[in-house]
Amino acid sequence: MEMHKNYVNGKFIAHGGGDRIAVLNPARGDVVGEIPDTSQDIVQQAIDAAKSAQIPWGKRPPIERAGHLRRIAAKIREKTEVIATAISQEQGKVLELARVEVAFTADYLDYMSEWARRMEGEIIPSDRAGENIFMFRQPIGVIGGILPWNFPFFLIARKMAPALITGNTIVIKPSEETPNNAAMFTQLLAETDLPAGVFNMIYGRGATAGQALAGSPDIGMISFTGSVETGSAIMAAAARNITKVNLELGGKAPAIVMDDADIDLAVKAITASRVINSGQVCNCTERVYVHSQVADEFTSKFATAMQRTSYGDPLGKKPVDMGPLINAAAARKVQGMVDRAIAGGAQAATGGSMIEQDGGFYFEPTVLVNCQQDMEIMHKEIFGPVAPVHIIHDLDEAIAKANDSTYGLTSSIYTRNLGSAMRAANEIRCGETYINRENFEAMQGFHAGTARSGIGGADGKHGLYEHTQTHMVYIQN
Ligand code: NAD
Repeated sequence: MEMHKNYVNGKFIAHGGGDRIAVLNPARGDVVGEIPDTSQDIVQQAIDAAKSAQIPWGKRPPIERAGHLRRIAAKIREKTEVIATAISQEQGKVLELARVEVAFTADYLDYMSEWARRMEGEIIPSDRAGENIFMFRQPIGVIGGILPWNFPFFLIARKMAPALITGNTIVIKPSEETPNNAAMFTQLLAETDLPAGVFNMIYGRGATAGQALAGSPDIGMISFTGSVETGSAIMAAAARNITKVNLELGGKAPAIVMDDADIDLAVKAITASRVINSGQVCNCTERVYVHSQVADEFTSKFATAMQRTSYGDPLGKKPVDMGPLINAAAARKVQGMVDRAIAGGAQAATGGSMIEQDGGFYFEPTVLVNCQQDMEIMHKEIFGPVAPVHIIHDLDEAIAKANDSTYGLTSSIYTRNLGSAMRAANEIRCGETYINRENFEAMQGFHAGTARSGIGGADGKHGLYEHTQTHMVYIQN
């Protein structure tokens, strides 16, 4: 198996020594790839290449930059099946979801390309006679993108497309768990006419390559998606150079099921939210607050739906609803949290155990009842197919408990009462509220967390403008 090469200044470059990192298939434990742990020198070479390329790239008309994004999108669509299989193999998501991820990635590049003719500045009235005040939007420079493993292919586009369309260049470091699909993205992009240095891909660990990128004085913005702990380490590295940060971090999304909810709809949506990608999605439901009047009905239907969820190797012979967790450590972390919740008085209505099967680490779809608000499982991100359920008696209590969190990424409410829905949307402190539907954001929205869920955001007009620097111009007639 050939080790993936870093892509710097339009060329695939040889590994300059140092550690090699094996990539494992989480369903079977076999090695499916290898990457270098890139040294600081090579990371800096990539940043230098991006810096040189940015000046001519930033001067091109946006419509020309848009054409590059669309050509990459077309290449991706042609290879959907092979990319989806690679994502499934190294990350563990089911093939159907991997195909959605690939399609969404290509659509995202097209969507961001549509902004080419819409990036507008402002003309501002002046207090002085004969003065004109303009606000221009300019590129920031070089953007550093550091990615997690849960939507590894899409997140390359989420970092790259808004950066490039606004005239920046980029250096990306994918997760060391999922570099194979990043290598495919890079190969497809290298086959297009994108100018050298505009996009650079470097592999390696967070503590080495990641820190070299985040701590470089030549980066204009570091755009990171991942855990709160790493976000904090990245912010500390960026602070040395006053580098702008854009942080998309973890979540602990509450779902509120009111007494007037469509219970079957709530069960379907919350089950999907816990099962998709084996529960490893930042914006999905992580804790459930159910009204006492409907608690028995909801919990019994929810436990049945979770129990019916099949799991196994996503590329095995039998189709499954859910694959493994990313690795053994993740499965053990979830088991520890479930065990501590049960020791504290919770009960498993279904599931509760980690299953080791053919070299993969799975977690049974789990519903925990009798969870109390002060338990660890109601506060710490689980990142597995486990739903702790707590009974509430009215909307005030539900909103207060939803807000009792250090996170603030998303929330959801199931109710037929418009007033209750709007109160949840107005009063829950978070970046996104889903009303009577599953947690899944749109590319034209603005995906942004509050509190420890992040700083800044992605998608839509507001996400695009995060990649620009305003520049005021004053002209006296
Ligand atoms: P992680 O924080 O462990 O790693 C993410 C990336 O950071 C990897 O590329 C890693 O190599 C790098 N990294 C690690 N330490 C670093 C350091 N000291 N300096 C620089 N880089 C470093 O996260 P993960 O386990 O890959 O992903 C799961 C987390 O991501 C969850 O908390 C999840 O909620 C979050 N997430 C958030 C969003 C969002 O949009 N808010 C989306 C997806 C995932």
